[in-house]
Amino acid sequence: MYNLLNSISLDAIIDIIISGLVFIFLLIMTLRTLLAPKAKTGEQTVHYDLDLSRAVKNLSKAIQIPTISPKFKGDNKEAFLAYEKFLEESYPLIHTTAKKTVINDHALIFHIKGSDDSLLPIAFLAHQDVVPSTEDSWDYPPFSGKIVNIDGEEFIYGRGTVDMKGQMISTLEAVEYCLKNNIKLKRDLYLCFGYDEELTGTLGALSIVKHLQKNNVVFEFIIDEGGLVLDGKMLGIKGNVALIGNSEKGYIDYALSATCDGGHSSAPMHPTSIETLSKAITKLSKKPLPLRWTKSTEELFNALIPHMNFLARFVCVNRNIFSPILKAVLAKVNPAVEAVMRTTIAPTMIKGSDALNTISKTATVNINCRLLEGDTDQSVKEHIKKAVGKHIKVEMEKTSSYDPPSPFSSIDTPSYQLIAKSIAQSFGNLIPAPFTFIAGSDAKFYYPVSKHIYRFTPFMVDIDDAEMIHGANERLKTKELIPAITFFIRVIENANK
Ligand SMILES: [Zn+2]
Repeated sequence: MYNLLNSISLDAIIDIIISGLVFIFLLIMTLRTLLAPKAKTGEQTVHYDLDLSRAVKNLSKAIQIPTISPKFKGDNKEAFLAYEKFLEESYPLIHTTAKKTVINDHALIFHIKGSDDSLLPIAFLAHQDVVPSTEDSWDYPPFSGKIVNIDGEEFIYGRGTVDMKGQMISTLEAVEYCLKNNIKLKRDLYLCFGYDEELTGTLGALSIVKHLQKNNVVFEFIIDEGGLVLDGKMLGIKGNVALIGNSEKGYIDYALSATCDGGHSSAPMHPTSIETLSKAITKLSKKPLPLRWTKSTEELFNALIPHMNFLARFVCVNRNIFSPILKAVLAKVNPAVEAVMRTTIAPTMIKGSDALNTISKTATVNINCRLLEGDTDQSVKEHIKKAVGKHIKVEMEKTSSYDPPSPFSSIDTPSYQLIAKSIAQSFGNLIPAPFTFIAGSDAKFYYPVSKHIYRFTPFMVDIDDAEMIHGANERLKTKELIPAITFFIRVIENANK
């Protein structure tokens, strides 16, 4: 025996031990993959006798009213008054049944009483405003609400089709349908429509929330715009994924400035303020904040893993082992996927001299930051300062607001389950999953009146099409309105059983 052991070299023994450990390690990872929960069978899809042409017509009319976000109180008043009138004419049952309250000029609350006061009310939010259209590359004018047939598929074009008049019209169509068909409400139902979400939300949503607080209104749950329905292919999933935002990223702008002596450009002194600032921007873009997973990313993995193919499951179940590679690979899938995993920083506006032949003493760039849970205004400022160096002044932009990352709404609640179930009943075979909403929404103001705030936009949109939101050719397949309206009816029915 001694001889045998002696004949095996130390290196060989180490090799055997390492191979054994690797084998055990792989075995554990495989077992974990095999033991991870499997997908449950889906919900039955529910169908209603909906009038699609009516919904399309109403959405087209809504788009034709250019409710561009007001820059100040009273701005673009005519459009918002016209929009209010359009709602009144198009949704007569809501207007005769609900108590309508107009707040701060154009913010609207519709309150429909339920039969059981012991149950908390629910609320659907939407914003009436849209961003302006600065692009001239639209195939059809942005406020035309044009309905177009492309290769046998009907689309509706216009600013706000997805963000978010399409959702607002779906909500209204659903409520009008419920009233028409005598679907009984036990809970009170509120529709809350702000009108400056695309700027700050303070004229609309914030005023609404203050009003609700004054009247001691607390909601069982709230649904606002948020995640879309996406094809799960890129995540190794067969079928579609409905992303439900149970939190939202924070927001802040920083102004970065560089100074030099300035002067006439015929005798330039280098580096100029713009040259120094450009270097700083390049340095910053090379030093992004770290990729990391938050609580809702973990929940997103847990929701998707049961539906993944073996390879994707293997990697995601053992994600802590593959963490650096997996994060890097996911970040490359799409900028929106990357944005779920890190605080993003993006230069958006830059200013130097006002004259062609003058070197500006100061050059300034605005850095728009979207904060992931765990970051604060201070932590992001520190990161930027470190990245750009001491020659650059970093200050919060004067007109910017600071919204910290929102709290998380639990997914282990009857409210989340109800919303997830309603989605599955409207879209058929699909996987509802929580995530951190990467943009801003009016919902962030509503935490004083509800703990259960979920962000979901019930439309199936190609992720590569997502740039049309706020860009040119914002459009929606008209048939998308059917599951969207169905979703809101399902939520109402499920919440009032
Ligand atoms: Zn929006």
